[in-house]
Amino acid sequence: IIEALNLDKYFDQHHVLKQVSLSVARGEVVVIIGPSGSGKSTFLRCCNGLEVAQLGSIRLCGQQLLQDGKLLTEPDLNILRRQAGMVFQSFNLFPHLSILDNVAIGPHKILKQGRAFARQLALELLEKVGLAHKAQAMPASLSGGQKQRVAIARALALQPEVMLFDEPTSALDPELTREVLEVMKQLAQDGMTMIIVTHEMNFAREVADRLVVMEDGVIVEQGPTRTLFSSPTHPRTRALLQHAL
Ligand code: ATP
Ligand code: MG
Repeated sequence: IIEALNLDKYFDQHHVLKQVSLSVARGEVVVIIGPSGSGKSTFLRCCNGLEVAQLGSIRLCGQQLLQDGKLLTEPDLNILRRQAGMVFQSFNLFPHLSILDNVAIGPHKILKQGRAFARQLALELLEKVGLAHKAQAMPASLSGGQKQRVAIARALALQPEVMLFDEPTSALDPELTREVLEVMKQLAQDGMTMIIVTHEMNFAREVADRLVVMEDGVIVEQGPTRTLFSSPTHPRTRALLQHAL
C-alpha cells in the first residue's frame, strides 16, 4: 500500500534519509524505532507528502506520490494525501470546536459529506475510541490521552487507507499512554494498515508485524518483530531492544 524506493532527503547539507526503501502491505503494522535524529519523522512525513525527498519514489495506494524526487501536483496531491492519515505527538485539536465537530469537520468540509451524515460518522468514531460521552465537550476539558484519541478519530474520519503515527504517546503519562495504545491495538486488530514511530517496545512486540530500525538516516535492520526481538543482528537494534526484555 506504500512503496518507498531509494529516498534521499537533505536539509541543506544535512543528509537525513539515505537510500531509504520500505514497502508496507495492506493490513500490515510496521513499527519504526531509532535514536533521536535518525530520520523517523522525516520518513513518515515523506510518506504523505509533507516533506519531499530530493531523490527516490513513493507509491501510495497504487498512485505515484513521488517520482524521482518530484511530488505529485495539486489537486491530485491533496486527494492522495487523504489516503494516509497522520497522528502527531501534539494533538492540534481545534480549541473552539466541540469534540464532535473536531471529528466531523473533515468529512463535512473536505469529503463534502452532509452535516448530519458527518456528525453521525464522527459519533461512531468517537464510540470506537471510547469517547462518545465527550462528544459535546470542548478540547480544553480533556486529558492528553483523551485528546489523542480524538485526534485518532479525526484522522480516521477522512477514511484513510493507512495510518501514520509519529510518537503518539510520548507527550503522555503512562496511564494515558495505555489508553491510547489500546485504541491503536484495536485499530490494528480491525485490519488497519499502520506505520508507527514509537519508543513503546512492549506495544511494538505485541502489535507490530514488522520492526524497522533506523540510525543516522539509514534503515540498518528490519524484519518480523519476533525475529528482531529474539535475534537482533545490528548493534543498534540490540541497544534499542535490550531495555524491553
Ligand atoms: P526524534 O526521535 O527526535 O523525533 P527523528 O528520528 O524523528 O528524531 P527527524 O525529525 O526525522 O528525526 O530528523 C532527522 C534529522 O533531520 C535531524 O538531524 C533533524 O535535526 C533534521 N531535521 C528535521 N527536520 C528538519 C527541518 N525542518 N529543517 C532542518 N533540519 C531538520
Ligand atoms: Mg521524530
